[in-house]
Amino acid sequence: ASTNAELMARRRAAVPRGVGQAHEIFIARAENAEFWDVEGKRYIDFAGGIAVLNTGHCHPRIIEAVKAQLDLYTHTCFQVVAYEPYVELAERLAALAPGEGAKKTLLLSTGAEAVENAVKIARSYTKRPGVIAFTGGYHGRTVMTLGLTGKVAPYKTGFGPFPGEVFHALFPNPLHGISVEDALASVALLFKNDIEPERVAAFIVEPVQGEGGFYEAPAAFVAGLRELADQHGILLIADEVQTGAGRTGTWFACEQWPVAPDLITSAKSMAGGFPISAVIGRADVMDAPGPGGLGGTYAGSPIGCAAALAVLEVFEQEQLLQRSQALGERLRAGLRAIAAKVPAVVDVRGLGAMVALELGKDGDVHQPDADLTGRVVREAARRGLVLLSCGSYGNVIRILVPLTASDALIDEGLQVLADSFAAVA
Ligand code: PMP
Repeated sequence: ASTNAELMARRRAAVPRGVGQAHEIFIARAENAEFWDVEGKRYIDFAGGIAVLNTGHCHPRIIEAVKAQLDLYTHTCFQVVAYEPYVELAERLAALAPGEGAKKTLLLSTGAEAVENAVKIARSYTKRPGVIAFTGGYHGRTVMTLGLTGKVAPYKTGFGPFPGEVFHALFPNPLHGISVEDALASVALLFKNDIEPERVAAFIVEPVQGEGGFYEAPAAFVAGLRELADQHGILLIADEVQTGAGRTGTWFACEQWPVAPDLITSAKSMAGGFPISAVIGRADVMDAPGPGGLGGTYAGSPIGCAAALAVLEVFEQEQLLQRSQALGERLRAGLRAIAAKVPAVVDVRGLGAMVALELGKDGDVHQPDADLTGRVVREAARRGLVLLSCGSYGNVIRILVPLTASDALIDEGLQVLADSFAAVA
């Protein structure tokens, strides 16, 4: 059998360097919130494949549903010959989306594709070109979604030009001195300096910024956006690719908003490790594009649909929304205990089980400590805990552990994190 080092050497020769890799580890097998590498070393997984594994690695019920689907048919292209699991998933997701009135669901394959399609639908419905996104936001790696993403290096570097008519307003971040009023005022400035509101199709916002650093969009901010949207005929898109599928304690994070969005994008954990994504929204909006305007060869694949329907079943059977809330409390308590001992921790935060801690040099919130973040993440991996960092300054450690992990495993992981801080901080 090959070692991690041998496989890394082959990877470097065969795969472009642009594909990053957080840890120099090759996996051999996985189960729930643990995996084993090719050298037999065991890891606790607090990364969850970047928010994909809310139901854990290889959940037996999901694997069973996918195997059953494999024996029936694997592909037709939904635009050629349809299949019931697509329709059933569309119905189920529409029923879960907040807001009054009828909803419809479009299925795709990736998060970026869902965001692309949400923009297409919003433009088609409003007959307007403009899209307003927010600083620090992340929406994907395709050219349109890179245009929406609010961070240059490494995502956008060298890949432009990006589509026109995309503008960025300030995302509120009270911890870093940007109030809700500042953020809403920056939208007003865009309307004054860059694009008239009558030409804006949509706002797109993450309920909690994921890659951007686990900063929550405050209720007053989304309420303010909703008000501007209603005033000017603009649509509100909630990008729930990272926040969705129960991560924040509700199926969609925007269920906790005081207002409803018009469109929601979903991907990642909605299918427990299989590639499928969705745009869910107001039926009148979703029906704006004409026949043939939406789709894709693999969009809403039968395998993805079977997996996603099984995920919904597992959420009910194992009461994972309640678990998400309880787990979030447990994680925040554990991180607060670390913060009490480590002056560099400037913030512990989280919505449901979407939890993070932020590091600043000498405990100064204005001096992001990416160096310490990297050292802790590497030390934890050496000790068998896989973590991910995030944030515009790379100084946030985020936790996306499966909701199905036991309390004992969570506590073990938190202890490794505490020990890693003690070793390097
Ligand atoms: N939107 C958000 C909020 C995301 O977090 C991500 C992925 N990290 C995407 C869109 C893009 O999803 P994908 O990588 O599946 O294209």
